[in-house]
This record gives sequence, structure tokens and C-alpha cells, in this order.
Amino acid sequence: MAPALSPTRSHHVAVIGAGPAGLVAARELRREGHSVVVFEKQKQVGGTWIYTDEVESDPLSVDPTRSVVHSSVYRSLRINGTRECTGYRDFPFVVRSGVSRDPRRFPSHGEVLAYLKDFAKEFGIEEMVRFETEVVKVSPAAEEGIGKWRIESTEKEKKVRRDEIYDAVVVCNGHYVEPRHAEIPGISSWPGKEMHSHNYRIPEPFRDKVVVLIGNSSSAEDISRDIARVAKEVHVACRSNPADTFIKQTGYNNLWTHSMIESVHEDGSVVYQNGKTISVDIIMHCTGYKYHFPFLDTNGIVTVDDNRVGPLYKDVFPPAFAPWLSFIGIPWQVLPFPMFELQSKWIAGVLSGRIPLPSKEDMMIEIKTFYSTLEVQGIPKRYTHRMGNTQFEYDNWLASQCGCSETEEWRKEMCLANGVRKEAHPETYR
Ligand code: FAD
Repeated sequence: MAPALSPTRSHHVAVIGAGPAGLVAARELRREGHSVVVFEKQKQVGGTWIYTDEVESDPLSVDPTRSVVHSSVYRSLRINGTRECTGYRDFPFVVRSGVSRDPRRFPSHGEVLAYLKDFAKEFGIEEMVRFETEVVKVSPAAEEGIGKWRIESTEKEKKVRRDEIYDAVVVCNGHYVEPRHAEIPGISSWPGKEMHSHNYRIPEPFRDKVVVLIGNSSSAEDISRDIARVAKEVHVACRSNPADTFIKQTGYNNLWTHSMIESVHEDGSVVYQNGKTISVDIIMHCTGYKYHFPFLDTNGIVTVDDNRVGPLYKDVFPPAFAPWLSFIGIPWQVLPFPMFELQSKWIAGVLSGRIPLPSKEDMMIEIKTFYSTLEVQGIPKRYTHRMGNTQFEYDNWLASQCGCSETEEWRKEMCLANGVRKEAHPETYR
């Protein structure tokens, strides 16, 4: 064990982002006695849950000069877990009255935003937030003392650029902004339109079109059904489907699931591994996102390699900078809000010296052992942060570090039952 920091020391901490992760991080850090500044480039709290009709100028989101739209939320989006499972542990996502509130168990994105605003109000978070202030660079400031960080930020309204020193930085910038794309043989000469689901909002532009969606995520499931209401044909192609897959979806006469695309051609046709050839107007990549920290300059100590952010101890602390740099929200296939809450409590307690961390060497050994285990199991790097069934074990480990109760049995059971229902009835599980 590394020597514990002197107990209950208070630090000046920067939190980057006021989405669900940054909001609860700010609350936990302040509860622990730290002074907190939250940097948020948007005008309000809520992160990805701030729906906008705006989309990026490049529909594929590859042009590095494009102006980035943060949210990927589409107009019809409803949450994919129950509100009971979705909410933070100590601020339940209960039904609230009000004209614009959505009492459904799987409410729309607007209700999640309203809930996050309720949370921010309840705990006085906004007073810690600098809105419309973008962090443009985060780098170690060793000349200012051990563990210190320099944060450079720009404030949109006043066009002010600030350069400040903090004791610690907690990165909560969200991970659904920088798209990943499928590789499609022949795409450079295919004449149709390509886009990423990041820029999907409403079905109307797809009226009477033949559309292919690539992917098997919740987004591909939702968007294919959204579009099928107006499109001529919708075809979902997925690399995890067996090569002969060709299934007409029950309840639709214009929606099919295929195996992956084999190639696309100059005449506009798309050929699937199942041997079908279809003339297509639009290909939409529902292929997920890459971790992206454009502001972070660690001299190559923290990297993103094939979507592995590393090295990170327990998906949170890079050992070389622990505990002065940390990340919230890296694991996926999780219930995010309760996990953010536990990661935040852990970070806050470690920073104050109440909770000890292992030595940097021991953290590195654990990380390397974990990477070797993945390699032996043939799991690609890009799945390093996928949790799925192990999420509750992880949450319970965090809870044990913080002296909190484990994940509630009802939450686990409801989450697992919902997963089974979603798989069996993607159309009606909500
Ligand atoms: P975000 O919500 O993305 O917030 C990050 C914040 O950081 C933003 O406000 C952003 O403006 C700010 N920021 C980023 N960079 C900077 C910078 N340089 N300077 C200042 N500010 C910055 N989760 C569920 O629980 N249930 C669901 O049903 C669900 N559905 C989803 C559907 C879609 C389409 C997507 C994309 C995600 C969905 N999620 C769902 C996951 C969702 O991302 C998380 O619930 C949660 O929003 C992640 O919170 P976050 O705070 O990590 O990131």
C-alpha cells in the first residue's frame, strides 16, 4: 500500500463536464470537503440528454474541422432501462407531476433531462458550474507542485481564455460524441449517402428511401423501427449475425435483418454475406463511438489504443497520475448513473486521504494482469471496458472501498429481467 494521504485533506478539484457523471462527481467531491469547479461547454446541465435538432455539417462526423454537436439523442428516444434502475442510488428517478413531465416507466429523453435538473437543483450544483466554458487543454503542471494540473479553458460569451492550476482533475466529458465507422469494401465508389447515427434525429428525411443500418446496438434497434414507419425498405446489417441471416421482422413488411455487408458498388447496390443484393439510397453507421479526450495532454502516459483507455486502475485512475487525474464513466454495458455515483464517492474519498490506494506499482501489476487475461481469452482491446454481467461485482467493489451498501437486490433483478425482455421483445419491452 502507498502511504495514505493525510486524512480528510481538502483539494481544489476541476470536473470536466456537467452531464450525469460530472453532476454527481461535483456533489460527492463537495460532500467530502473539496472545493470544486465544473467546466461545461454547453449552456445547461444534462450532457447527452440535452436534445437538439441540430446535426453536424458532415453527416459521417469525420471532418476534423466540423463544429461538433455533443448530443446523439434522437427525438423519439425513450430510455432502455426502467426509471427505477436508471436513477442515482440516493436520488430515485421517481414520477414527478408537471405539465411537461413523462410518468412512463421508460420515459423519453426529456424526462431524464428534467430529472438531472432536479438533481442539480436539489444539491445546489449549478453554483459550482462555469457554463459555456470549454476546457481546451489539461496538462501536468509539475513546476507548480507534485500532482498539480494546468487547465486552459475558453469562455464563449466573454471570449476569455483562462489558464489555472488545480490539485486534481476529474474527467467526465462523455463518450458518445466521436463516431466509429464500419469498413465497407467498395465504399469510395458507391454513389449513395452515408451517415452516422450520431446525426439521426427524425424519420422524415428517410421517407420512401431504401436504408441500410449497420450495427446491433439499442440505437440500431430503435432507429430502424423509427424509420420503417416512413421508409420504403429498411435493412439492418450486423457483423455478429451468421452469414446466412435474412429475417423479416415480425409486424413489418419493410424491415429485414441481414448478415454483414460484403461489398457495395458503383450502381448503388449493396451485397450482403447472405447473397442478397439490394439497391440502397442511404447507409447509416450505428456502430458506436470512440473514447476521445482532445484536451488531454499527458505526454503519452494515458492513451486511447483501439478504444482501450489506459492504463487505468479499476477504469478510473491512471497509476502514474493517481489520485490527481481520474475518469468517470469509462465502463460500458452498465447502469451508468449508479456507477458514476460510486466512482465519484471513491475518487472523492481517495483524494481526501480517507480511502487508501495501492502503490503505483501494484496498480500497474493489476492492470497488466487484467490485460493478459483478456488476451488469453481472445477478447479484443476495444472490449476492455465492456462490463455487462460483471458490472455489479465492480459496483460492489467500489461500494466496499467507500463503506457504502452494495447494489440493491431489486435493482439487479429488475435490470437482468429487463435485459431478458429487451432481447426477446425489442419492439414491446418498454
Ligand atoms: P455526457 O452526458 O455526454 O456529458 C458530458 C458533458 O461534458 C457534456 O455536457 C459536455 O458538453 C461536457 N464536455 C465535454 N467536453 C468538454 C470540454 N472540453 N469542456 C467542457 N465541457 C465538456 N444511458 C442510460 O442510462 N439509459 C439510456 O437509455 C441511455 N440511452 C442512450 C442513448 C443514446 C443515443 C446515447 C448516446 C447514450 C445513452 N445512454 C443511456 C448513455 C448516456 O450517455 C449516459 O446516460 C450519460 O449521459 C453519460 O453521462 P456523462 O456525464 O458521462 O456524459
